[in-house]
Amino acid sequence: MAGRSPRSEKSVAKEKLELVEVSPRDGLQNEPEVVSTGHKLALIDHILAAGFARLEAGSFVNPKKVPQMADGPEVFAGLPKQSDATFIALALNLRGVERALEAGAKEINYVFCASDGFSIRNNGGTVEETFAVWPDVAAAAKAGGARLSATISTAFGCPFDGEVAVSQVARVAERCVGQDIFELALGDTIGVGAPSDVRERFRAVKAAIPPHIQLRAHFHNTRNTALANAVAAVEEGVRVLDGSLGGIGGCPFAPGAAGNVPTEDLAYMFARMGFDTGVDLDRAIEAAKFIGGVLGRQTPGMVSRAPKWPG
Ligand code: ZN
Repeated sequence: MAGRSPRSEKSVAKEKLELVEVSPRDGLQNEPEVVSTGHKLALIDHILAAGFARLEAGSFVNPKKVPQMADGPEVFAGLPKQSDATFIALALNLRGVERALEAGAKEINYVFCASDGFSIRNNGGTVEETFAVWPDVAAAAKAGGARLSATISTAFGCPFDGEVAVSQVARVAERCVGQDIFELALGDTIGVGAPSDVRERFRAVKAAIPPHIQLRAHFHNTRNTALANAVAAVEEGVRVLDGSLGGIGGCPFAPGAAGNVPTEDLAYMFARMGFDTGVDLDRAIEAAKFIGGVLGRQTPGMVSRAPKWPG
């Protein structure tokens, strides 16, 4: 049988690219005014209506340090029971994992840092110290029936220690996969990375961890490099990207951290590049406008302000 069978463009299945919506957690955690649980749940409804299959619903961190996230248990209690979506709970210590499990979380994202300066402020100990509890965290998640992922924050630079070596990121990645995780994320917490950094860091991490572990990238747009970084990550084989609708977000412990990459801008660009993100762009824009309305300001995302294309 010689020759290729003719295939119309329509019949070629598009490659999947998962967009994880983090606005209810990373997007809101730095907001000075506490957003009500009702508004958070309404935002989550908008996110689900836009077709997202996975989202960060809240974090279980010290409520005194991050009052915006104090209602994690109430948010999880209010999630729609019939939804097929995965609601991620973020935790930084064993107590947080236990609280997340008590709240019914089925997926936990546990955060390590690549730098001591940020780790001490964000996670309460040096990078080395925070790994002491890692076996207990993994055991607790397993016993609680939750799947576990890890994020390495400050993987591209630290607001306190400055540049972070690629070799250090790879070392932390190796430590992360010492326990049973299904996914590992690199976070540019303060938005300093450029596409060349993304390539070298993901290459180093891929060389350091088993191939079955899914890779995920988390970019902030502090220096307007996040969309370029997202493309570089996808070119390196990453198929899970975090975004925050409207481009809201920041980190209470990272001075000057600006918003996450706007998810609707990712959704527009990658759809146009031929990926299937599963996201309904019009509804994602509606969700971005909703959260902008709740916060009472214009959000930084661009696509929601541009004319519809194609019209
Ligand atoms: Zn972040």
